Amino acid sequence: MENGAMRVLLDTEDLPRTYYNILPDLPVPLPPPLNPATREPIGPEALAPIFPKEIIRQEVSQNPREPIPEELRSAYVRLGRPTPLYRATRLEKFLGTPARIYYKREDLNPVGSHKPNTAIAQAYFAMREGVERLSTETGAGQWGSALAYSTNYFGLKCTVFMVRVSYDQKPYRKHLMHLFGAEVFPSPSDRTNYGRKLLENNGHSPGSLGIAISEALEAAVTGTNTKYSLGSVLNHVLMHQTVIGQETLLQLRSIDETPDVMVGSVGGGSNFAGFTFPAIGERMKGKLDTRFVAVEPETIPSLTRGKYEYDFGDTAEMTPLMKMYTLGHAFMPPAIHAGGLRYHGAAPSVSLLLHEGIIEARAFDQLSTFEAGAMFARTEGIVPAPETCHAIKGAIELALEAKRQNEPKVIAFNFSGHGLLDFSGIASKIQSSETSTARGRNRMN
Ligand SMILES: *Cc1c(COP(=O)(O)O)cnc(C)c1O
Repeated sequence: MENGAMRVLLDTEDLPRTYYNILPDLPVPLPPPLNPATREPIGPEALAPIFPKEIIRQEVSQNPREPIPEELRSAYVRLGRPTPLYRATRLEKFLGTPARIYYKREDLNPVGSHKPNTAIAQAYFAMREGVERLSTETGAGQWGSALAYSTNYFGLKCTVFMVRVSYDQKPYRKHLMHLFGAEVFPSPSDRTNYGRKLLENNGHSPGSLGIAISEALEAAVTGTNTKYSLGSVLNHVLMHQTVIGQETLLQLRSIDETPDVMVGSVGGGSNFAGFTFPAIGERMKGKLDTRFVAVEPETIPSLTRGKYEYDFGDTAEMTPLMKMYTLGHAFMPPAIHAGGLRYHGAAPSVSLLLHEGIIEARAFDQLSTFEAGAMFARTEGIVPAPETCHAIKGAIELALEAKRQNEPKVIAFNFSGHGLLDFSGIASKIQSSETSTARGRNRMN
């Protein structure tokens, strides 16, 4: 801890040497993906046309740990890992809470979110087996820019299908992807059969993540030496993200803190899983009794109001069926600002942990998350992504509960990304809170 107990840093050597795989530690086995036609379990070989071999092996691995090769560890160092853990002392003071609030900085890399943690790994393993191109989809562009950065780093080509509305309305991440050498097509596009069919029916389709996934899958199956890459939901993606939680546990331990509760936002579940799974593993072995709180938007309440059942991962019904908390694959998410949380389901492993009562879920409305994000920006001085505002809102609510009970709880949340390219939403929605925050500012002096 340095400089008035505000920031915990790790050395480069502390960067994890393995990923943590939660599958063998789950209280019950993860229900397998099913073939939609036969409802029989799908073997890993069925994924061979889509994913690199090593990724398929990791997806079903029952090894408690998977190694991070040295060349990949160097790439993590260049991305800024290990990332710092901050203590939100100014936010604590503003709230008047006895709780100690910590946040893990996943915004401090060249693209500004946790997503490169898996993008760089997927690009590395694809490169190692001679894959030439990765195809993917992106909504607002967080995932697309993480993959473009990573394919560029390891000398691969990259094709991104970007949801048409975002392509037109959010040009900056599109430019970032171009800069890193990716080709970016507005989806639906004329590059795939599926896209052409949709464009014939409606030349002005705004697109959707479901459509873009279908196009990226088609590009992988039909393209030369091309594989597909997914940014959340699947086991291997969540496993790559566990570098976050392993570092966090080391950092808290180095200052003799034990987390009472860990909080993260959930879209598909990758940053929440990466942050909490290593600690959940310890809780399952009786070494911690931390609570885990997943936060989602009230308008897309898959965890708090969805059903735990088999459903498609995409709208076009191209993926296998996965058992998860879902609102139904036909659910049309409203156009909230937190684009990364607009998913009808949640990762099967996160869903299982919720079903087993090991994690909890809470939902908040958009305005209250923006107010939390603005309060954070004005106290801690960092602009959060709209998705991250959900984790902040969850942490603030817990800190206020600790205040009412006068308990010095240790609350840790994952700061999944910065909002420097998306803060028009926050800025337009929180003007009314200006006076109350000004009062708070005075109280801090
Ligand atoms: C994509 C994204 C999310 C949500 O995705 P998960 O897979 O649930 O982590 C959260 N925060 C940020 C900043 C994102 O870019």
